[in-house]
Amino acid sequence: MPENPSTRKMNNLFKLSNYIGGQKLAPVSGLYIKNYEPASGEAYSLIPDSDLQDVALAVSAAHQAFQHWSSLTSEERAGWLIKLANKIEEKFELFVEAESKDNGKPISLARSMDIPRAISNFKFFAHAITQFSSESHFMPDVGINYTLRQPLGVVGCISPWNLPLYLLTWKIAPALAAGNTVVAKPSEITPYTAYLLSEICIEIGLPDGVLNFVHGLGQKAGEAICVHPDIKAISFTGGTQTGKRIAAVAAPMFKKLSLELGGKNPVIIFSDCNYEKMLSTTVRSSFANQGQICLCGSRIFVEKSIYEKFRTDFIQKIESLTIGDPSDQQTKIGAVVSEAHMHKVLSYIELAKAEGGKILTGGQQIQLQGRCEKGWFIKPTVVEGLSFDCRTNQEEIFGPVVTIMPFENENEVLSMANSTSYGLAATVWTENLNKAHRVSEKIETGIVWVNCWLIRDLRTPFGGMKNSGVGREGGMEVLHFFTEAKNICISYK
Ligand code: NAD
Repeated sequence: MPENPSTRKMNNLFKLSNYIGGQKLAPVSGLYIKNYEPASGEAYSLIPDSDLQDVALAVSAAHQAFQHWSSLTSEERAGWLIKLANKIEEKFELFVEAESKDNGKPISLARSMDIPRAISNFKFFAHAITQFSSESHFMPDVGINYTLRQPLGVVGCISPWNLPLYLLTWKIAPALAAGNTVVAKPSEITPYTAYLLSEICIEIGLPDGVLNFVHGLGQKAGEAICVHPDIKAISFTGGTQTGKRIAAVAAPMFKKLSLELGGKNPVIIFSDCNYEKMLSTTVRSSFANQGQICLCGSRIFVEKSIYEKFRTDFIQKIESLTIGDPSDQQTKIGAVVSEAHMHKVLSYIELAKAEGGKILTGGQQIQLQGRCEKGWFIKPTVVEGLSFDCRTNQEEIFGPVVTIMPFENENEVLSMANSTSYGLAATVWTENLNKAHRVSEKIETGIVWVNCWLIRDLRTPFGGMKNSGVGREGGMEVLHFFTEAKNICISYK
């Protein structure tokens, strides 16, 4: 078989290691994958191309660590999470720079969102676990039931590239807090901050095997986690097709599954909204992180009476966004995450045109000067003139591309908004309280923001309906996911 150039043994770039049993380990096979900087288009490090053998080592280490970790008090486990949070805080700028470089996101976004929220995840679940309680059910003259919430054992956490450390910690923090040990696989496209986190684990002396990182490809390392019989639950965030594959593999093994999948989120703008707030927030909800946030609104429905005005003002604001080197503090739009993803997004722009869409702004790749000349940049793109049920409006693009569409009334916009197979998040803009409640109740999504976007309270349930997922993360919901309920019934007689 011809050698795959991307997995050839390469010596000239910095090699990241797996973190297994408290040690930095090279992959058993000795194979590595190139890791690219999206802004420059250059490979700058190598990550382990792990397989079944590395996952087996990680599961064995996690298995050995479970008894001790699960027997700690919740305050003791919380203490470890706080130590992790404090260490990330201490090395804040290192993490910020690494996330921006690895993902292509503007450094200002990594600084204001990704890394602070990763720290909050550890702190939040450290506090949450000390307040976690279970139920008891009293039966007069018969007895009492009480429910234990016990950790599951070794759990698998698989995360995507768009918010690398933020979404990884969103899983591992509650899993560890609840007393599980973890085998995690960060995205192969953005492995760097997980690697830095493993260095922190070593630095603070986190007990060996409690948390393990296996780097590598989804179909190889990720699938090896899903099929391993000693992994009791899989918490996955990523694309809907991958979620389907993971469910097909893991469900017959009766693993607990939490699937946070793709979206095609509607933004519904009524004419009675707070216009200025709506306009600036809609620019953000469309193009933050180059549109690569699962919660970004990609289908914008605007009430007919303000459609023309919105179109003019929206385009003007978008055209003033600074596109540039993500490491520049002024940059608002950075690079998309990979060359393959750039081509996927560009192909959707071509599809939009073929379906009769008119490109109002953007529509193409941009070539920057200097160190970013080979980077993967796409101009923020707005399309109009498409029907709500065409492919461009039904399939997830996950890039800096939105469509705008006028609507006449509530019923019409609800049927268009609910027309996709997805159901993750929606945004509604109106100052009319009754309308806000009415529309929110009828939208088929797991999350609805009214007159805002991306406000996060970590106690709230987080997740999607329909093909956007199964289960909920956040707050007590995720602590329930990462524990097994056992009811104990005691008779008085
Ligand atoms: P992806 O599905 O390609 O990959 C996600 C993770 O799964 C990666 O770590 C990958 O290596 C792994 N993986 C791939 N194939 C696998 C397999 N067969 N078995 C096990 N693991 C496998 O997704 P992506 O491209 O990294 O992320 C983008 C997608 O994630 C978008 O669809 C986006 O909407 C979605 N997303 C959803 C949420 C949410 O909360 N619902 C949040 C962020 C991103």
